[in-house]
Amino acid sequence: MKNFKDLFETYHWDEAKESIYSKTKNDVEQALNSPKRTLEDFKALVSPAAAPYLEPMAQLSHRLTQKRFGKTVQLFIPLYLSNECTNICTYCGFSLDNKVKRRTLTENEILQEVAVIKKMGYEHVLLVTGEANQTVHVEYFKKVLKLIRPFFAQVSMEVQPLDTDEYTELIPLGLTSVLVYQETYHKADYRKHHPKGKKSSFDYRLETPDRLGRAGINKMGLGVLIGLEDWRTDSFFTALHLHYLERTYWQTRYSLSFPRLRPFSGGLQPKMEMNNRELVQLICAYRLFNEELEISLSTRETEQFRNHCVPLGITSISAGSRTNPGGYAVEPGSLEQFEISDERSSLEIAEMIRAKGYEPVWKDWDKVLQ
Ligand code: SF4
Repeated sequence: MKNFKDLFETYHWDEAKESIYSKTKNDVEQALNSPKRTLEDFKALVSPAAAPYLEPMAQLSHRLTQKRFGKTVQLFIPLYLSNECTNICTYCGFSLDNKVKRRTLTENEILQEVAVIKKMGYEHVLLVTGEANQTVHVEYFKKVLKLIRPFFAQVSMEVQPLDTDEYTELIPLGLTSVLVYQETYHKADYRKHHPKGKKSSFDYRLETPDRLGRAGINKMGLGVLIGLEDWRTDSFFTALHLHYLERTYWQTRYSLSFPRLRPFSGGLQPKMEMNNRELVQLICAYRLFNEELEISLSTRETEQFRNHCVPLGITSISAGSRTNPGGYAVEPGSLEQFEISDERSSLEIAEMIRAKGYEPVWKDWDKVLQ
């Protein structure tokens, strides 16, 4: 296969869904006992039939995570640079049709934000923007990377999907990883939720991880927005994507996160709710399927739930996050992309991690090692 799209087009959503929902107790037990789990095993582990097996799944997930990652949890923080966006996404507070004040941080404002973030102890930062070609384009990203690289050990980006040669230009400036969520692998529903703007092209987004892999990115993050479609089927397609990417771009590391639809100004109701037990099931299913995968949990989740998840398979966590440009120093009261649930500071989160017998990791890489 030359790219994931070719592989994806050999699958059908309804067939995959039916196959997941027809998995039995025996399929789940076979998946649990298998030394190397397949995509069919993953389907069994995310199926309703696996619900009664949550405890053995959690124990196994805990053991596998500790074997590969030790007792560590990495800390990172998002830095929102801009809420300008030319797309309409039905679930986002920054959507073009949402009449909010728009701003893109200047270099001076970015440095003010960085100063606050550094005081919190962070070495890993995730830069976030909306998708607005006129303002937050490759030249802007280049400028920002040059500006902030001296302050951080790792810089990740969650911005508009770019072309391969654009990623190739950004990587030497210190870009270590890129997050690009497909939102949903259900093509018709994707169109419904992305009616306008560049993001309305399902295929361009679907092919982004291939472009990142060709550019030689160190790490990429995948995921879907849970609540847009059937989460079990969407998770299967994410696992399929991951499986393909790992075999094609084997030098790249991969991470996953599980954003659940959160309230925002003008909010969309989830098509399918996912409860906390189901999210634990999903985290464990991914860990059992892939021992190398980095798994991240954001401040969308509640304090209690995040505390509970630390030993189950999570390898990175954000804290003290603001989801609005200028949220740390420049304009704390501006509109957030979504509401956060866990309001604890970075030090409180680090303390919680320590109390569970784990080590909070602020930095696991230095550019002198490159
Ligand atoms: S999800 Fe991203 S692309 Fe869509 S409206 Fe929000 S910021 Fe823009």
